[in-house]
Amino acid sequence: MPNSEDHANRWLQLLASQRLPGAETFRTHVAAGRISSLCTCGCHGFGFSVPADARLDRLTTGSGLYCEIAFASNAEEEINVLLFADERGYFCEAKITLGSNVEPMPDTIIATATDGIWPSHSVVPGTDISLESANEK
Ligand SMILES: [Zn+2]
Repeated sequence: MPNSEDHANRWLQLLASQRLPGAETFRTHVAAGRISSLCTCGCHGFGFSVPADARLDRLTTGSGLYCEIAFASNAEEEINVLLFADERGYFCEAKITLGSNVEPMPDTIIATATDGIWPSHSVVPGTDISLESANEK
């Protein structure tokens, strides 16, 4: 079950709808860039590229992990998502795996609930996750 742009786009839409740290900024990155590569290891990971001339708020203070998210799913195991930012602090990669990633991601996978969101320590200060959560309740 190969990875596809359809899968990647579905994940991208789901991620953009989450209460990520700096969610508004993340959405501007998603709108400005495009999926640039698809991982072929059997996971649903993908690379993302924001154009070099884009002038956007940054997600993180440097390159590396931006945020980790876990979803409950219709499979036995949790879906684990790692989001990465490039040296500009712009979203650049998603790693999306099922449980321990020993088996390929099933095509029929559906994320049923958000189990948790963990910002990395390099998230730009001032992006307040709790504010957004409060507003949506
Ligand atoms: Zn992969």
